[in-house]
Amino acid sequence: MFSQKMILVVEDNSLNRTLLCQILASDYNVLEAENGQEALSLLKQYGEGISLILLDIIMPVMDGYTFLSIVKADPAYSSIPVIVTTQNDGESDEVAALSHGAADFVAKPYRPQIILHRVANIINLRETAAMINLIQYDRLTGLYSKEFFYQQVRKILLRNPDKKYDILCSDIENFKLINDVFGIPTGDRLLCGIAQLYQQEVKGKGICGRINSDQFVCLIERRWDYSNTYFINVVARVNELLDVQNIVMKWGIYSIQDHSLPVEQACDRALLAARSIKGQYGKYFAKYDDTLRNRLLKDQAITDSMESALDKNQFHIYLQPKYRIQDESLVGAEALVRWIHPEWGFQSPAEFIPLFEKNGFITKLDQFVWDRACAVLRDWDNKGLPPISVSVNVSRADIYNADLADILMKITRKYNLPPSRLHLEITESAYTENPRQIIDTVGRLRDLGFVIEMDDFGSGYSSLNMLNELPIDILKLDMKFIQNETAKPNSQGILQFIIDLARWMHLSVVAEGVETKEQLARLEEIGCDYVQGYYFAKPMPHKEFEALLAEQGASEPDEKKGGALRFLKELPAVLIADEDAAYRKEVVRAFQGRYRVKCVENCQQALAYIEDHPKLAAAVLSLTLSEPDGFSVLERVQRDKNLWNLPIIATAPADAELERKALELGADDYICKPHFPQSLLKRIQRAHNTVVNKERTRFFQDAAYKDYLTGVFNRRGLEAALDSLNKNDLPLAVYLFDLDNLKWCNDTFGHAEGDRILTWFGTVLREHTQEKDVISRIGGDEFVTIIRKMPSEELAQRKGQEICTTVQEISSRRGVEISCSAGVAIMQVGDTISQVLNRADKALYQAKNQKKGSCRLWKEETI
Ligand code: C2E
Ligand code: CA
Ligand code: CA
Repeated sequence: MFSQKMILVVEDNSLNRTLLCQILASDYNVLEAENGQEALSLLKQYGEGISLILLDIIMPVMDGYTFLSIVKADPAYSSIPVIVTTQNDGESDEVAALSHGAADFVAKPYRPQIILHRVANIINLRETAAMINLIQYDRLTGLYSKEFFYQQVRKILLRNPDKKYDILCSDIENFKLINDVFGIPTGDRLLCGIAQLYQQEVKGKGICGRINSDQFVCLIERRWDYSNTYFINVVARVNELLDVQNIVMKWGIYSIQDHSLPVEQACDRALLAARSIKGQYGKYFAKYDDTLRNRLLKDQAITDSMESALDKNQFHIYLQPKYRIQDESLVGAEALVRWIHPEWGFQSPAEFIPLFEKNGFITKLDQFVWDRACAVLRDWDNKGLPPISVSVNVSRADIYNADLADILMKITRKYNLPPSRLHLEITESAYTENPRQIIDTVGRLRDLGFVIEMDDFGSGYSSLNMLNELPIDILKLDMKFIQNETAKPNSQGILQFIIDLARWMHLSVVAEGVETKEQLARLEEIGCDYVQGYYFAKPMPHKEFEALLAEQGASEPDEKKGGALRFLKELPAVLIADEDAAYRKEVVRAFQGRYRVKCVENCQQALAYIEDHPKLAAAVLSLTLSEPDGFSVLERVQRDKNLWNLPIIATAPADAELERKALELGADDYICKPHFPQSLLKRIQRAHNTVVNKERTRFFQDAAYKDYLTGVFNRRGLEAALDSLNKNDLPLAVYLFDLDNLKWCNDTFGHAEGDRILTWFGTVLREHTQEKDVISRIGGDEFVTIIRKMPSEELAQRKGQEICTTVQEISSRRGVEISCSAGVAIMQVGDTISQVLNRADKALYQAKNQKKGSCRLWKEETI
């Protein structure tokens, strides 16, 4: 709980090493190594306990680059950030360091402020990444999340090539009904109960996860004795969880034959098996077997006829309109493929696209769709219709095609269209597979002028992780996400957050799958830009779309017709405040295409601009500005709360004193003049990323740590909050509150009323505590509250009583008999939190037994 972070300093020059250690010693535990070899053995000893490595490049025995390569290649250490110390501010050193995987660099001679600052920044970034890993666990049930489960299975299969395993998936047949009839909290309770059952059953024999709302999965060592009796027994236990007798569950089993089969596919097969007995009374499980193979036979038939279908023009494109939400004007369309087969009839893409993705035919079909899309655009241009854009789907297989850019350029040239008329939809999940390659390929396409949309965004959290690194223009929110999120008022925070984040990163947002007026209204309210969905129109043959376009085009004023680029947001903006015109000019040139640059030449102008534009990506501030000087701008920015998120990079000639003062006044970074414009660009990107990360952390904390109902911490939030308390907070008063008659309320007035009471109780606790105190709901009607620096036991008891009394008074005034009881215990140095919680629990038990509605203090003699 109360420990300092550890830093490893690797440097052969003992003078330099001592200097670094002195700089760091006040804030960190420092480990020292004289060369790479020594450093490696320290790494072995402390592993990920090391928060950061400061590394010299030129060393005997094993040089820095070799060491860096070893560290980055080893999964056990590769996530530890490394800052490289270089001889001078030369760009080649910087580039070499970064390309070897360093997180940052500092130049010699060492400047304490800079070093401390960079170290803190990098550690902070890494912790954000660690936070995101929390998403490894499913928020509701605490089981592994889908992606993480897959990853773990892969590891297990790799490590145990000779063992035999089964994948079991389960599906609750009438889960939606349970949610509808009993309410979502009850549904959630059921899921948590099932998760626990899974954990008990699988313990020691395998691992389990939740892969979809009501779908659980586990990997266990092979067994042969699956029987109906076994699953009947499990279903009976599931039904006991809610005291109702109508929950129906089905299991599918896939016995893994080939360890190299993708895990997703193995789970799909198990799920396919589960679905195959849907609605069949008395059947509880099915193995993936022959009958299921029939589906595969159909797949085979599709495979056999696909080539000739393309030749015989059986594939067609349909277009689905996209509208601007603000004025509901038509701005574009998505091209979606349809297969009209002479015998099978109209085939939906869901039938064949997944198959084509597997067998590779998708690349050919996609090229056909791109070609058709461009052909209709050319046709419309010739007819003088508004020059809108059309988006096409780009499969992940396309991205791995080295000729992708050439192919796309050839098509747009063939129809004499600028690439910006074509939007490329690339699914979110593609980005998580091989991020580097994807970023490079997509970045190249974007540089060529294609507009990049991230499709199905929100179907996994994975890419939030690296969103700010990705070369994209538009976020396309996944339809399931829209439909779920707009249905659940509690989680709309996430939708709002994503739209804010997008706004902030200068991305446009398209919501797809909009089906109702309510969804549209909600999306408009939170600031979404574009919509697509059945509410407006289904995908239609291109002639029908053309009629729509002609109608809309005719009714629009000319300046609105400039379709294609209307989708795009502007580039992020950077302010350059510098007295040197040549400097400004050089920066503007270097930043072209990356940032919009606004230049000013004195402090007044700088301040005026910053105040009007608090959402700048960064401000580059010369400390030697006139009227009066750069420091005054820094001071002003620090005072203004609205500007705290604005990264400021101070520039000046090399001068330790200026630098110290600038950092002290809140500058985020300092760069000495003269410098390469590229160095400044890198610094800005880093500063900008740090702010994006901060916002993200806040979001993830909210999502993972809060109780969805009351807004106070949940169990995990409580644990995290406990970690952040320190010695100065002692003594702590630890309370356990319990609502005395919530069950009765639920039964009498319904669960909605019960939820309202819980929410209200959360508010009461907040009103009686201070912001830094900790409040959490750890079970149905149990709350833990921790008040810091409690002067005495008597006061602790009195405070608890005050809360109990308030609850009783207010509720009896409202005519509802609600009371709460509490137990409190004091935590001193040397106590563990679980000890103290235990004591509070005992005191609560006494309060409940002796006098409901009261608060008892735990005392040694009371046991
Ligand atoms: P997608 O790219 O996410 O496309 C959106 C899908 O949602 C389309 O289904 C569209 O018809 C459907 N949709 C649009 N609005 C609504 C709505 O309001 N409610 C509902 N429930 N659905 C709506 P479609 O056309 O069946 O396509 C399914 C998927 O097949 C597409 O999902 C895409 O992944 C793939 N696909 C379709 N055409 C192509 C293609 O030419 N190339 C590639 N690679 N994939 C394609
Ligand atoms: Ca799409
Ligand atoms: Ca989509």
